[in-house]
Amino acid sequence: MLIIMDPEANVENINKVIKKAEGYEMKVIVNKGEFQTVLALIGNENKIITPDIFASMDGVADVQRVQVSFPLVSRQLKKQDSIIQISPEVKIGGKNELIVMSGPCSVESEDGIIETAKAVKKAGAKILRGGAYKPRTAPRTFEGLGELGLRFLAQAKKETGLPIITELMDIRDIEVVCEIADIVQIGARNMQNFSLLNEVGKIKKPVLLKRGMSATIEEWLLAGERIINNGNEKLIFCERGIRSFDSKYTRNVFDLSAIPLIKQLSHFPIIADPSHATGKKSLVKSMSFASIMSGADGLMIETHPDPENALSDGPQSLKFHEFEELMKDLQKVHTLANELY
Ligand code: PEP
Ligand code: MN
Repeated sequence: MLIIMDPEANVENINKVIKKAEGYEMKVIVNKGEFQTVLALIGNENKIITPDIFASMDGVADVQRVQVSFPLVSRQLKKQDSIIQISPEVKIGGKNELIVMSGPCSVESEDGIIETAKAVKKAGAKILRGGAYKPRTAPRTFEGLGELGLRFLAQAKKETGLPIITELMDIRDIEVVCEIADIVQIGARNMQNFSLLNEVGKIKKPVLLKRGMSATIEEWLLAGERIINNGNEKLIFCERGIRSFDSKYTRNVFDLSAIPLIKQLSHFPIIADPSHATGKKSLVKSMSFASIMSGADGLMIETHPDPENALSDGPQSLKFHEFEELMKDLQKVHTLANELY
């Protein structure tokens, strides 16, 4: 950490900062310039509760961190990719195959989810997605079947063997969700629900952490850091688009650069969700290609037996035959990406 003293700072101000830093077991190197003094604090700066404890001191002009504030998820401490084992056959991350998770936005019926599971499995998807607890902006819209939806997912898993990813919205549902989920999804709207993050940090299941719709990269990484800091070792990031000023033609702005960036900054895998990122099925194919070429470890793509009558997110959901066609192309793009990276 660097503490830049004000040109007006006196010896007493400087000594107070040094004393405080030493109290945190930091070694302090004093650099006296012509006008200003810069204090370099050497040691684990994550021991310091907050840089503000220096920023608010008399005579301090600025405080700059040197280490990242998310050491557990960062590549600073762990260089090699973390590979997240989902089931004996499925793992995400590293130089493994592209993992596609697919299924409806919401689980609507037992037959529907089983039919979808069979169709996406046949097309090559490795994980079934489906929401039983749905975060909906407007009340009086379909908010999911809750526990019944979880039971239908469990039945779909039984019939196809596909692992399940489903969203957890409320700490009170953590046990029932964990009973059937192979990956617990934290949705964009809950990325900064800190008590929920703390709780999923205490479970053993992999957690898929979607990027909040107005979250900076650092806030997102810090949300991941919170999960890992609580003991969980299995994290997957998911870029699903962020809010910007134009919502007429796309639902969100797909931040493609977040994919290689997260891979540079973190050892945990990242997947992309072109369905929620664009909100339009006509954009899913090109954004899937772009995600793979950007280094995504997997994709989440919404499919539905009858998108026109879906209870949520129909406009971005692919029909089964469209998904099947897409999957053939995705494998080609992934082969090419593997050659190039
Ligand atoms: C979803 O995956 O169905 C969902 C609600 O996604 P997001 O949290 O990205 O909006
Ligand atoms: Mn959805």
